[in-house]
Amino acid sequence: MRRALALLAAFALATGPTLRAEAPKAPADCIFCRIAAGTAPSRKVYEDPYVLAFWDIRPRAKVHLLVIPKQHVASLKELDELPAEARAALLSACVRVAREEGILDSGFRVIANSGQDAGQSVFHLHFHVVGGEKLREDAITRDPAK
Ligand code: 5GP
Ligand code: ZN
Repeated sequence: MRRALALLAAFALATGPTLRAEAPKAPADCIFCRIAAGTAPSRKVYEDPYVLAFWDIRPRAKVHLLVIPKQHVASLKELDELPAEARAALLSACVRVAREEGILDSGFRVIANSGQDAGQSVFHLHFHVVGGEKLREDAITRDPAK
């Protein structure tokens, strides 16, 4: 019995780092992962196997949607970690939700803040799709009350 336990411990030590390396990289507390998993609420407008689109919780334009990959990557910097299908689906979804919200022809803006200098605040890649009104240059940074 003791020998079996020792063998098990040795196996765990030998394989531990490998098993850990294969664990999902998404932080357990990532709000957009929870929205993608359906364990946090959202006002969903579109979903396919790779992406999800929903209203921003603090809209700063008449239409303000977020398009995210279901697979967690922190920002555009990590884009290449996504499969090609997901990368294509992200941009297509931006156009699709703009059409579905009726802002395709009036004009819309797609914004991806990446990293500290850009003011990224949620570190799960997302594209803001904003429109429905004449957009200011600081469309998604201004206070919605102003
Ligand atoms: P960032 O500043 O990273 O470019 O944009 C993050 C966006 O996520 C912000 O516009 C913010 O309002 C939105 N946001 C943050 N938490 C939530 C949430 O729990 N639900 C939704 N729908 N949007 C969120
Ligand atoms: Zn995430």
